[in-house]
Amino acid sequence: MARVLITGGAGFIGSYLCDRFLAEGDDVTCMDNLITGSVDNISHLQDSRFSFINYDVTNYIYIKGQVDYILHFASPASPLDYMEYPIQTLKVGSLGTHKVLGLAREKGARFLLASTSETYGDPLVHPQNEDYWGNVNPVGPRGVYDEAKRFAEAMTMAYHRYHKVDTRIVRIFNTYGPRMRIKDGRAIPNFIAQALSDEDVTVFGDGMQTRSFCYIEDMVEGIYRLLKSDYNMPVNIGNPHEMTVIGLAREIISLTGSRSEIVNNPLPEDDPKVRQPDITRANNILRWKPQVSLTDGLKRTIEYFKTKIGVAKSNL
Ligand code: UDP
Repeated sequence: MARVLITGGAGFIGSYLCDRFLAEGDDVTCMDNLITGSVDNISHLQDSRFSFINYDVTNYIYIKGQVDYILHFASPASPLDYMEYPIQTLKVGSLGTHKVLGLAREKGARFLLASTSETYGDPLVHPQNEDYWGNVNPVGPRGVYDEAKRFAEAMTMAYHRYHKVDTRIVRIFNTYGPRMRIKDGRAIPNFIAQALSDEDVTVFGDGMQTRSFCYIEDMVEGIYRLLKSDYNMPVNIGNPHEMTVIGLAREIISLTGSRSEIVNNPLPEDDPKVRQPDITRANNILRWKPQVSLTDGLKRTIEYFKTKIGVAKSNL
């Protein structure tokens, strides 16, 4: 039995990690300042082995007693969110990562950083493998997230090399599933919410940009295996099934049986044109590859959004 600290544990991916470690029999402390996370994601966790601390990890962190694993997931992660909270995003990736690494060093805990495919920016190598250094615009609107995560990776490696902290870095590609917020701003929640309400589905640009979407269950399994491995360099976790954004919009309209039309809105600045993980490393080291198809994952996510939208409407 281990004690696990999950920063950002009330967020989308973080809350599934809380579930997973509790299911493994571990004690879980979730730390979140709830700027984009929500207690709704953890309210089902009534276990005495679970505790929640409402705290901003950019401040000095004090935790009493032993901590075995720390997973650092605190950060706004949707482009809409990190553009609304640019300074907080930069601070949690830089100051927050420093504080959490300091805690890992103090406790002798293993540390796992939630990094991102955004470290590759608008990539000039396709698909992206972990040896690619990326193509990021530091002064563009996405720079606040991309550079914060790149700094966080550098800080993690420095603590690993100089302070001998046992670290892991996961580069998370687009992930989706139940518990995403209706107004999260990302493609899948936007399209599902719009399709279920028969509103226009907002495709940005001509929709020919590509993404590769991983279902949350597969993502959590990959992260869990990486934590338990002994590998310190970054590992991509994502689903290599690549598709255009307009293709995704059509699939969601079809699966929801919606009467929505697709409209083309302006493409946000620096929106990556392509994205697809090369998961050779995860496959070799973790024996991991995604299991859930896009259709199955979308169906499960649509069911969740139906309930959520129903509740939101009944509260009007
Ligand atoms: N996108 C879109 N319509 C939306 C939201 C997003 O066309 O309502 C596009 C966005 O421009 C990007 C892709 O969908 O090309 C994925 O965007 P998302 O915000 O999900 O994540 P990103 O991969 O950009 O971090």
